[in-house]
Amino acid sequence: EQKKIFGTEVVAWSKGVIGNAPKPIVISGPSGVGKGTLINKLMKEFPSRYGFSVSHTTRAPREKELDGVHYHFTERSIMEKDIRDGKFLEFASVHGNLYGTSIEAVEVVTDSGKRCILDIDVQGARSVRASSLDAIFIFITPPSFEELEKRLRARGTETEEQVQKRLRNARAELDEAKSPGLFNHILVNDDLESCYGNLKKLLASDETADPLYQSSVKILKAHVSGMESKADHRTLI
Ligand code: 5GP
Repeated sequence: EQKKIFGTEVVAWSKGVIGNAPKPIVISGPSGVGKGTLINKLMKEFPSRYGFSVSHTTRAPREKELDGVHYHFTERSIMEKDIRDGKFLEFASVHGNLYGTSIEAVEVVTDSGKRCILDIDVQGARSVRASSLDAIFIFITPPSFEELEKRLRARGTETEEQVQKRLRNARAELDEAKSPGLFNHILVNDDLESCYGNLKKLLASDETADPLYQSSVKILKAHVSGMESKADHRTLI
C-alpha cells in the first residue's frame, strides 16, 4: 500500500532493502509507558544483537538527547523534502511534530546483521504493517490510564500543555492498539523487570522460529570469530 504526502507517492518498503537480516521489531505504546527504558535495557544487555533505528523528528531535542543517537533532529522543510524524495519507510505527525523512519536508518542496522528495533507510534506501526516489511509488532500498555498520567508527569520533560496533548493521544493509541491484526503482542508494563522479562521471552521464541535470524547469527558469528570467542552476546535469550 502506498501512502501519499503532499501529492507525492512515498515508496513502499521493498524486501530487497532488508537483505538477510532478521525480522525487525516494531515497538509502540503511549508516551510515558516506558518503551524507551525497555529498549535501552535490551540494547544494553545485547549490544551486538539489537540495533536501534534512529528516527528523524522536527521536535526540539530534550536535555541529554543527542543528535544522531536518540533522533536525527531535523527542520520540517528538509524532512518534508526527504519524504517527497522517497527516503522514508514511514512517517507520522505526532503531538504536532513530524516523526519518521528513514530507509537508511533501518538499513544501517540491518546491514550490520543486527535485529532492528523501531520505536514508532501506532500510525507508524500501521504504515509498516501495510508495507511489505515483515516485522514483529509489539504494543506496550500501562496497567491503567491513571498510572500512565502519573509516569508522564513524573518524567517532567514536557510542559502541562504537552502532557495534556500526550494523554489525549494515549487514549486514542490504547484504543487503536486493539485493532485486530495490528499488533502480534501486547505487553503490560506494570512492573518494569517483569515486563522486560516477558519482552525477552517473546523475542526469544520469535527468534528461535525465524530461520533468517538463525542464518544471520551464523554469518555474524563467522565474521567476528576469534575477536570475541568467549563473550558471545548473541547467545539466544
Ligand atoms: P517522543 O517525542 O516522546 O520522543 O516520541 C513521541 C512519539 O513518537 C512516541 O510514541 C514514539 O514512539 C513516536 N515516534 C518516534 N519516532 C518515530 C518515527 O520514526 N515514526 C513514528 N511514526 N513515530 C515515531
